[in-house]
Amino acid sequence: MAAEHLYKADELAVYEYLECGALGHSWDFVDSNHWRAAFGVPVTRRCVRCMTERRQCLMRNERTVLSDNYWYPPGYKFAKGERPSRMDFLLMSIDSKRRRKQRKETSVVTTIPTALAKREVKNARRR
Ligand SMILES: [Zn+2]
Repeated sequence: MAAEHLYKADELAVYEYLECGALGHSWDFVDSNHWRAAFGVPVTRRCVRCMTERRQCLMRNERTVLSDNYWYPPGYKFAKGERPSRMDFLLMSIDSKRRRKQRKETSVVTTIPTALAKREVKNARRR
């Protein structure tokens, strides 16, 4: 169990699409002029984060979906049965956010003239 978790954490640490794995895609409508629907009304939505596309053909009068296909960016898909769970994505997302936040806080702290830094400047002037 632990070994399996470490394996996924390793894999997910370099995975570009953690947020979509954790939250699902963030869809927006885009033009359908880059593909051709055999029948019906083409509808294309694209994820604003990872650029995955969902291309559907709708039958307007029947109000049904005729076809439904996904187009993924390079490196998005895992081999069959290898995709980590949503919980794995969720945990890795908050872990990587925590790392980013810590880096940010560290850089902010270094720009603030602390009492120690002021003392060091004063001592340097005396020399
Ligand atoms: Zn996405």
